[in-house]
Amino acid sequence: MNKCSFCGRTEREVGLLIYGMDGYICDECVAQASQIVKQHKADKGVGPKLEDLPKPKEIKAYLDKYVIGQDAAKIALSVAVYNHYKRLNHRGETDDVELEKSNIIMVGSTGTGKTLLARTIAKMLLVPFSIVDATVLTEAGYVGEDVESLLSRLLQAADGDVKLAEKGIVFIDEIDKIARKGDNPSITRDVSGEGVQQGLLKLLEGSVVNVPPQGGRKHPEQQFIQVDTRNILFICGGAFDGIEKRIAQRLNTHVVGFDASRNVAKIDKANMMQYIAPMDLKSFGLIPEIIGRLPVLTHLEPLDRKALRSILTEPKNSIVKQYKKMFEIDGVALTFEEEVLDYVVDKAIEFSLGARGLRSLIEVIMMKPMFEVPSTGVKEYVVTLDFARQQVENANMSVLKESTEDR
Ligand code: ADP
Repeated sequence: MNKCSFCGRTEREVGLLIYGMDGYICDECVAQASQIVKQHKADKGVGPKLEDLPKPKEIKAYLDKYVIGQDAAKIALSVAVYNHYKRLNHRGETDDVELEKSNIIMVGSTGTGKTLLARTIAKMLLVPFSIVDATVLTEAGYVGEDVESLLSRLLQAADGDVKLAEKGIVFIDEIDKIARKGDNPSITRDVSGEGVQQGLLKLLEGSVVNVPPQGGRKHPEQQFIQVDTRNILFICGGAFDGIEKRIAQRLNTHVVGFDASRNVAKIDKANMMQYIAPMDLKSFGLIPEIIGRLPVLTHLEPLDRKALRSILTEPKNSIVKQYKKMFEIDGVALTFEEEVLDYVVDKAIEFSLGARGLRSLIEVIMMKPMFEVPSTGVKEYVVTLDFARQQVENANMSVLKESTEDR
């Protein structure tokens, strides 16, 4: 009878026995060993070893497998993550150069891949990572969550290990939603605006804060966990709807009286986001102190026809690959006529559905085949343009739109 070489229990007593060269280990001992390793690393106070770290180019190459385009954001992210690891390693060494962290802010219209980038990078990270949404935050004392709750998720990602969480990375989505509503600091309370930004500033600057372990609102009887945010890397993302207009305004005012004709010609109007500068964030309503604490400002490009077309087929887990896999499990070889994919892209643009709409459209087209094909016993299924067009035209487009807005 095979036994775990660590705890001595038999295969029957444990859930799973893993075979090694000369012995066995059970699932529980694996879990325990993993805890010990984590604890050991945390006690030593160092991050992942420098030689084990993926270099920025490797991080970007990994992102390239899942996310189309967005090179500027990918490079900024890869460098930030690599530097974050380096800082963790460097800490505690006795030379006087202190490496300051460089939090990032990514600006790009909705559906261009901000969250996808964050999720993808999370898969390869060697430190705890969490994605949180700034929309739930309000100033202390108001309905909503306190700013410190942003760290609760990170604590959970670190299995409650505070030292580990203090080396983690937090992605704060929809940071634009806490922008000050007007340009002037308000006299009345701006519950979800400036007060929240002041709270967030404390986290970004690095301080010891009281985190409610379960998230949500703080209340007096609760036990808090103290977390030092000095080494936590913050990545913020936001759509900043309408910021292109502000960029355009700024560029125009600059151009006036300065060799106007030449500069105007150079501006790529279809992609104003690439000219974004910190002052645009300020005019949108972020306080200067926050902007100062997010020194790396990067942008995501709007997705054009070519990018949308690539998103359908190229990423490692592209929508088309996912459907093919689904049919393959039933022993059916699924193919899409090229024109179908072009048609889907056209429709996504026509209905301004963006990348999110691609899946909804394919979903609409594939509903009938997914229902019928498994019972037919066919070995091959081709989605034709006529069929696709028919399905989309029959579908209620308003439903399609709503389903993409929810996400
Ligand atoms: P955002 O956070 O910018 O609003 P998301 O990252 O949530 O947008 O993107 C929504 C969906 O659109 C993703 O799940 C993905 O399927 C698709 N998508 C968006 N941008 C890209 C991209 N650059 N490459 C591949 N897929 C993308």
